[in-house]
Amino acid sequence: MNVTDWLRHARAALEDSGCPDPEIDARYMAEDVLGMTRFDLKFEGDREVGPDQQARLNAMLARRAAGEPVQYILERADFMGLKFHVDRRVLIPRQDTEVLVEHALIALSGMGEADVLDLCTGSGCVGLSLKSLAPLANVTLTDISRDALEVARMNAGLLSVDVDVRHGDLFKAVGRQRFDLIVSNPPYIPHLELSELQREVRHEPTLALDGGRDGLDLYRRIALDAPRHLNSGGSVYLEVGIGEAQAVRALLMEHIDCADSGVIKDLNGIDRVVWARSK
Ligand code: GLN
Repeated sequence: MNVTDWLRHARAALEDSGCPDPEIDARYMAEDVLGMTRFDLKFEGDREVGPDQQARLNAMLARRAAGEPVQYILERADFMGLKFHVDRRVLIPRQDTEVLVEHALIALSGMGEADVLDLCTGSGCVGLSLKSLAPLANVTLTDISRDALEVARMNAGLLSVDVDVRHGDLFKAVGRQRFDLIVSNPPYIPHLELSELQREVRHEPTLALDGGRDGLDLYRRIALDAPRHLNSGGSVYLEVGIGEAQAVRALLMEHIDCADSGVIKDLNGIDRVVWARSK
């Protein structure tokens, strides 16, 4: 069997099993196992696939066809142009979340050596991207899941950045420390909607998704405690779920003595990030 044959076989199998992106997923697996680029796959499709490689590819294909996300199978996700290790201990970084990081970077650009806190860090994708792209910042990552923090630490090592990693429930992880910028992509799916999620998402940790009855539990707690952890003039940037932006902005405005606040849309035109700057 050559590369083109395997790709054709994989695409058909993934299509039959209801995968949303058969073409892309088949290609990612082939690139990984065969050590070929997208370009190689296209122009050297007649290369033979050895029996070992075929066995590895087919094992991956079976997992993907059964609904496991391709990022867990390859143990890798791209985010902000950086590579992150991911596995079942953490949420897979989403492209939507890049909007959060981009706007947090703009906020940081005027600050110099800022103290930054990433709550619910998971894989670390938000805080570690900030540290990689704004190296002057002092970045602290926290999560309630020790499993997730192991992944975040691993990613800090892979990206060769130095960050402070603390375990704890939201702000409990940081004592009385204050920050210039607090960012978070907390769990925000309303509890009853969890069972309706795509089968891929159901492989991800519930703890990273479940936002309580209306999805806003974590935002209530973040808004309530943020004033004790923000330096004056400091900002909070939060990713939100569909339809949650106005409620979350109201929560921030209720608790933080705001100089300014706003909502930012993602590339699909959905309100995705809520921010507030304290006086
Ligand atoms: N901060 C991580 C991310 O954006 C994890 C988020 C979470 O676990 N809710 O992917």
